[in-house]
Amino acid sequence: MLVLMIENSKLPKIQLVAPPCPRCIKRGQLVRNLTVRSLLIPKAKKRVMDIAYYLCLSPDCEVSYYSKEPSEVFTTKDVKVPIWFKKDAHPKYACYCNKITDEEAFNAAKETGLSEQSEIIEFLREKVKCACVAMNPSGLCCTPLFSEAIINGLAAREEGN
Ligand SMILES: [Zn+2]
Repeated sequence: MLVLMIENSKLPKIQLVAPPCPRCIKRGQLVRNLTVRSLLIPKAKKRVMDIAYYLCLSPDCEVSYYSKEPSEVFTTKDVKVPIWFKKDAHPKYACYCNKITDEEAFNAAKETGLSEQSEIIEFLREKVKCACVAMNPSGLCCTPLFSEAIINGLAAREEGN
């Protein structure tokens, strides 16, 4: 049933066949080639080709991006920024574009009671930037840490009152 639903949807096929990470054997997530090129350190960037790359989603695995054909692996050390969901990532960014950590988002929500990511970004930063494709390791906008930090910050605010 689930398979049927996926086939009927408009999802690009390539997402359905994301190959497993060669190290942890867990399924990764397709990322844009531009994201990989933007975030790798110069030495590692030289190895990037015009092929599909995937982000390893396992917190315990040291692999950041990998490809299948040809098989290539980059580690978290090859990436310019800490990948928020990886164990030992520091700082943990809730928003990469505006360099806002989960702690900052938590404190802002607690302090102001604001509940929208955009409001909190505006509260914390003079100028709001959005360049997720080039700055967030997943190529997507803000990390799930952001909403988590807001929920926890607002809960802490409630308790404080
Ligand atoms: Zn992995």
